[in-house]
Amino acid sequence: MRYISTRGGIAPLRFQDAVMMGLARDGGLLLPETLPAISADTLDRWQHLPYQYLAREILSLFIDDIPATDLEELVERSYASFAHPQVTPVCKQGEVYILELFHGPTLAFKDVALQLLGNLFEYVLARTGGFMNILGATSGDTGSAAIAGVRGKAGINIFILHPHGRTSPIQALQMTTVLDPNVFNIAVNGSFDDAQAIVKAIFNDLAFRDAYQLGAVNSINWARVLAQVVYYVYAYLKLRKQGASSVDFSVPTGNFGDIFAGFVARRLLPAGCIHTLILATNENDILTRFVSQGEYSRGQVITTSSPSMDIQIASNFERYLYYLRGENGGQVKADMEGFAATGTLDLSAFKAQIAEDFSSRSVSEPETIATIGDFHRQHGYLLDPHTAVGVKAALELKDANRPVVCLATAHPAKFGAAVAQAIGSEPPLPPALSDLASRESRCAVLDADIDAIKDFVVANALR
Ligand SMILES: *Cc1c(COP(=O)(O)O)cnc(C)c1O
Repeated sequence: MRYISTRGGIAPLRFQDAVMMGLARDGGLLLPETLPAISADTLDRWQHLPYQYLAREILSLFIDDIPATDLEELVERSYASFAHPQVTPVCKQGEVYILELFHGPTLAFKDVALQLLGNLFEYVLARTGGFMNILGATSGDTGSAAIAGVRGKAGINIFILHPHGRTSPIQALQMTTVLDPNVFNIAVNGSFDDAQAIVKAIFNDLAFRDAYQLGAVNSINWARVLAQVVYYVYAYLKLRKQGASSVDFSVPTGNFGDIFAGFVARRLLPAGCIHTLILATNENDILTRFVSQGEYSRGQVITTSSPSMDIQIASNFERYLYYLRGENGGQVKADMEGFAATGTLDLSAFKAQIAEDFSSRSVSEPETIATIGDFHRQHGYLLDPHTAVGVKAALELKDANRPVVCLATAHPAKFGAAVAQAIGSEPPLPPALSDLASRESRCAVLDADIDAIKDFVVANALR
C-alpha cells in the first residue's frame, strides 16, 4: 500500500515514511492510494477475534513495510496498557450501545491511536538511527495522551505546551506527573491560542524544524486514523454476532478525525454494514452546518463543557473533501486555498452525497448537561460531556430499525465539574489515577514568547 496527498503534490510513499511525514510536504494530508474492501467471508473469519488480533488484521491491509511478527508485537504492546481485557468494550444502556474508548492510560479515546503511534515512531527511528523532538500545544486531552504514548521511548523527546492554569486540574496533572526524562511540560502564561500560535511559528521556521527533526502529534497523522478504524469494525462485529446486519454510529466530533475513521470503516466493510454515521457537534456547529447546508465556513470558537470539541477548523475535513471531490487532488488544493483566503467553501452541489454519508445534530450546553443527568437517572450510567453530545444526537436521530453505537470518548471522571453540574457530585477517578494529586510533578512555566520557548527547546532537545 502506498500513500498519497489529498493535494496531489507528492510521490507515493510507503507506510513508514507516511507515519514519519505526518503532514504531507505539499500542505495536504496523507491517504492510502486505494481503500481495500473487506468481504463478508472475511468478516465471518474475524467474528470472534480479540481486539489485538483484529487490529493486526486491519492494520496489515494498510501496512506492507513492517514484518508481520513486528507488527504483532507493536500492537500487543500498544494495547497492553489498557485497563479492560477487551480494550474497547461495548455495552447496552437503554436504547443505545456504548462503545467505551476510555480504558487507556489517560482515560480518553486518543490513547487508542497515540499508544500505537508512539510505538511506531520508536520502531521506525530505531531502524533509521534517527531522532525526533515532538512539539505540540494542547488544551488538555491530546497532550496527555501524546505524552503517555512516547514517555520513556528511545530517540524521542516531547515538548507539550499548555495554557497555565486553564486546563482542568486533572488534565494538567496527567501531563506534569509524568517524570520520564524525555518529557518536557511547558505551562505558558497565556491562552491555548497563544500556545498554539507559538508552536505554529516554530514549525514555520524551516531551518529550526529540520535541525531538530520536529514532529507533530495532532490528529493529521494517518496512523492515528488507521488505529481508530479498528474499533468501528470491532463494535460492528459484536453487534453482528447478536444478529444485526446494519448499524449506525454516533460520533462526538471536533477535528473530524474520529468520524473520518468511521467513514473509512464504512468504505472497507460491505455496503450497508454501517448505515449512517451521526456527526454530533456541541455549540461549535461548523460541521453540522456543513452537513445540512453543504457550506463549510469558519466562525468564532465557543467555550463549552466538551472542550475537546471546541474547534472551528476541523483538521481532518480535507480527507473527506478528497473523496467528495472524486479523488481529485488539484481540486482539493484549489478548495483549501480558497478556504484559507475567504474562510468559506461552498459544497452545496454535493448535498445529496453528504446526506448519504452523514446525518448531524448540534447539541446545546443545557441539552448536554440534561443528557448526563437523564442518562444517569434512567440507566445508572455516567456519560462524560463529549459522550453526552453523541448520545443526545443518537437519541434524536436514531432509526428504530437499526442499533446505534455511541462512541464514549472520555471517562466521566476526567470532566468531573460538568458531571457534577448534572448529578450533584463529581465521579471518583479510577484506581490507577486516584493518587494523581499527591504525585510529584515537573513543569516549566514560561512566558508566551517565541524566543523563550525556543531557547527552552534548544536546551533540552535531542540533536
Ligand atoms: C479529541 C476528542 C474528541 C474529538 O475527536 P476528533 O477526532 O477531534 O473529532 C471528542 N471527545 C474527546 C474526549 C476528545 O478528547
